[in-house]
This record gives sequence, C-alpha cells and structure tokens, in this order.
Amino acid sequence: MPKTKTKTNTQTSSLLKRLGLASTVPGVFDGEWSGSGKCLETFSPNDGTLLAQVRTATPGEYERAAQRAAAAFQKWQAIPAPQRGEIVRQLGNALRDARADLGMLVTLEAGKIIAEGQGEVQEMIDICDFAVGLSRQLYGLTIASERSRHRMMEQWHPLGLVGVITAFNFPVAVWAWNCALAAVCGDSTIWKPSSQTPLCAVAVIKIAEKICRANSIDPAIFSLVIGDGPTVGERLLNDKRIPLISATGSSAMGVRVAQAVGKRFGRAILELGGNNAIIVAPSASLDLAMRAILFGAVGTAGQRCTTTRRLIVHESIYDELVKRLVRAYRQVPIGNPADEKTLMGPLINAQAVADMQDALEKIRRQGGEILFGGEKLVAQASNLGSLPPGGHYVRPCLVAARPEMQIVSEETFAPILYVMKYRKFDDAIAIQNGVPQGLSSAIFTNDMREAEQFLSASGSDCGIANVNIGTSGAEIGGAFGGEKETGGGRESGSDSWKLYMRRQTATVNFGSDLPLAQGIKFEA
Ligand code: NAD
Repeated sequence: MPKTKTKTNTQTSSLLKRLGLASTVPGVFDGEWSGSGKCLETFSPNDGTLLAQVRTATPGEYERAAQRAAAAFQKWQAIPAPQRGEIVRQLGNALRDARADLGMLVTLEAGKIIAEGQGEVQEMIDICDFAVGLSRQLYGLTIASERSRHRMMEQWHPLGLVGVITAFNFPVAVWAWNCALAAVCGDSTIWKPSSQTPLCAVAVIKIAEKICRANSIDPAIFSLVIGDGPTVGERLLNDKRIPLISATGSSAMGVRVAQAVGKRFGRAILELGGNNAIIVAPSASLDLAMRAILFGAVGTAGQRCTTTRRLIVHESIYDELVKRLVRAYRQVPIGNPADEKTLMGPLINAQAVADMQDALEKIRRQGGEILFGGEKLVAQASNLGSLPPGGHYVRPCLVAARPEMQIVSEETFAPILYVMKYRKFDDAIAIQNGVPQGLSSAIFTNDMREAEQFLSASGSDCGIANVNIGTSGAEIGGAFGGEKETGGGRESGSDSWKLYMRRQTATVNFGSDLPLAQGIKFEA
C-alpha cells in the first residue's frame, strides 16, 4: 500500500522530543536501549505522515532482553509489595504529568480522537491508583483444617516474568492494565506491542525507565521487545522462562497463543475479539439508547474490542430507531482526530479500509441492506471541511441484517453496525448469544423483568453485561474480558491480580501428632 512520507511538522516534532523520541528510535529495552533488527516505519493513519523509524529486536537481542527481565524479577519479587506499590504510585504520577503529550501521541499514531487518546492515558493512571491500593491487599485466606492443632492458609507469591502482547487499538492502556498489576504482584514484564503503534510503546517505557532509575530499581522490570509476531511474538510464546503470557488481539492470534503456551504448560490470559450487541426493548429510553449506540458503534471508528457491532431492536420501535440512527450517522463529524471537533477519526491503515470494503461486498452478497455509509472517504468529503490527504477515512455504516447472515457472526474491525429485529424477548437473547464471541453486551429497557433476565444465568453469555449502558467504555475497577472466542481471560480490576501470582496452599502442624487427612491411618 502506498504511504505518504511527508515529514512531521514542528508541532509533532516538539511533541516527540518532549516524550524523548527521535526520528529513529531503538525498539528494545532491557535496562539498556538497543535494536539492530529491521527498521519499522510508523505512519500516522490521520494523514500518512512518517512519524519515526523504530529499530526492532534481533533474535539475539530478544534473548538478552528475556534473560535480563527474568533476572530483574529475582530482585523485584524480594521487595515488599507496598514498596513495589510506591514505584507504581510514582509511575501513575509521571503518567499524570505526561497525559496530554502521551494522549496526543496515541492520537497521532493510532488515530484516536483527542478525548479518547487522553482517556486511554487516564485509564493507565486509574489502574496505577488501583494497583497502589492493591499492593497492601494481596490477601490470602485462612481455611479451617480438618486436623486438630493445624492451620491451613493460602498464600500468593510473585509468579515470574510475564509476557505482554498488545493490539494496536489500545496502544498504551493495555500495557498498564497488565504491568501495573504485575508490578505490585512482584513480577517483571516483557512487552511486545503491535507493530502499528511502536512509538507509543517506546514513549511509555521511557517514562517507566525514569521512575525506576530515580528509585535505583532495575528498569528491566518493564522490558520491551518490538518486532513482528512471527519473529519476536513466537519467541515469547515458546519461552519457558515466561510462566504467563497475557495476549490482547484477534481470536486468530489467540488460538496460536493458546496452542504454543499450552504446549509448554505456560498460562495465558487471552483478551480477544468481540461481537458486541445492544438489545433495545420497547420500554427503552430511545434518547439514552441513541447516545450509547453512537458512542459504541462509531467511537474509535469501530475499532474497539467492545465496539457495538449488532443492534437487536424490538419490531415495534425498529423504524423509529433506524430513522434516528441514519439522521445521527449523517451528522457524525469525521476528520483529523487531532481536531477537537472530530468524533470519528481514521481506520488504522489502508488494509483496514480494504477489509471494510470486502465486508460490505459480503454483506450485499448475503442479502444485507446498506442503510447508510460505508464508503471510503477522500479529501474533500468530510463535514468538517477537507480531510487530510493520505488518511484512512471511511463513513460509518448502518446495515439492515438478519442474524443468520454469516458476516454478522464475524468481527469486522470497522464501524459497521448490523441492525436486526426481534419480536419475543427470548429471541433477542438467543440472537445476542448466537455468535462465537462473548465479550460485551447491553440492554436498554425500563422493564425490570427483562433487565433481570438479561443479567441472569440464562441471559447474556458475555463477560460484560450492562443495563441502560452501552457495550464500550468499561471502568478499570471491574474484571475485564469475555467468554467463548474472546478467550476467557480477565484483566484489570476485581481479583484479576490473582492471575499474576502463584497460589500456594500451606498447612502448619503445631501439635505433636501427625494426623493424616481423610482420617487415613498409615502406621506399622
Ligand atoms: P492482532 O491479532 O493482529 O495483533 C495483536 C498482537 O498480537 C500484535 O502485537 C501482534 O504482533 C501479535 N501477534 C500476532 N501474531 C502473533 C504470534 N504468532 N505470536 C505472538 N504475537 C503475535 O490484533 P490487532 O489488529 O492489533 O487488534 C485488533 C484485535 O484485537 C481485534 O480483534 C480486537 O477485538 C482485539 N482486542 C481485544 C481486546 C480485549 O480486551 N478483548 C482489546 C483490544 C483489542
């Protein structure tokens, strides 16, 4: 695909400078910066500008980084958890200071609008705060022993080196979800970010490095290896020094991770694709539903794992809702995400635009009706004035669809919303659950019975189920993740921290006999 190689403007250059980034940056960090593998060019999806070149890891550099990160774990895990929390507290504060700049880098490299770029950094700050509190709450249980004068307990120990693989669409927050928790749990981490967003990764690790150095902590606890899936990613998956791989990305990638990591008895947290639906019931407030649908379906240009991809609407309100949606879609300000008036920026690259166009072809072939949008946008077509040339802009798309259409079961990572009708409430739930993915789901209703049924065991089968809230924009306090082809992993809040630790059941005998469990006698 042709890319524009215009130079960054002075504003961008000084932003990169403030974040410690030059026009060529090393993409490996293990206490020292290196990178002598092939050069990765990173372009802004907004206008095709070449932002920088990032030097990837060679196999030898990967090896050294993994070794150093594993060694850093040995010292880090011996530091008391509240002291580890203090490092994470400082990291959170450094991110507060860098919020505007780092958020703008997310906008430049990933194409998110300013509010979402900064929101992503806010998520990093929030999870750091959460992790600081957690550093004093890594509680185990005391369990009643069946044997007299015995005490049984559960302890949580640091696990080791954690491999973190991230997707392009959350280029900084997903690192923080994993690494803030892993750090207070006593683990070191080695991060392989998406090759679409390597600059964001380098900027984040530079911030973490500074905090570690100021506290005389080995900065290799937050290591980085940039490189593609087959070269660097596969090494991580097969590396026996890494007991846990946390991988965020497509379900296809997750299958590969599960196989490779399972084969060596490693553990995996899988955060994969979604195909999220909102049910709109007759009693729903349509004003509320409209706002949630728009943010869910059009926000981040349809490139969130929690993006609303399916709308299941009661037949009695279908026509009215579709009419309102078409009107709203027509007014979505599409344009340069660095412009504060923009609500929808570009797709990540030309391939994503081509994939969307392919999906539209399939939709037509499978009998779907395009109600609005879908087309690739060229420079002059925006309602915000002219779009930057070289950007990957599309119009968000509304489709009248049926649940049986094959494409409705797939996650097309683009702003395509399938609108479907239902008559009976049980059918709405069956449609909602009738896809291979199980990440996020929502219902808009003012009927208490429907809401409770949706949340019951026979309701939504997703990891996230919301009432009168859309499918995207989760808070960090809850465990985040989904079922089925979404991978079953949980990250972020609640007790997700336990996945980053090693559970140990310990029993102490403070008596003078040796009674065996289950009353077994074993005496000569
Ligand atoms: P992707 O699967 O193409 O890539 C994700 C990451 O996996 C990248 O870093 C990539 O280099 C790496 N990778 C690919 N093959 C690998 C291999 N063989 N070994 C190791 N690593 C490998 O996904 P993407 O296009 O970057 O992101 C979009 C996808 O991510 C969507 O499906 C979206 O739903 C999903 N996602 C899920 C969540 C979640 O929390 N459930 C969050 C964000 C994104």
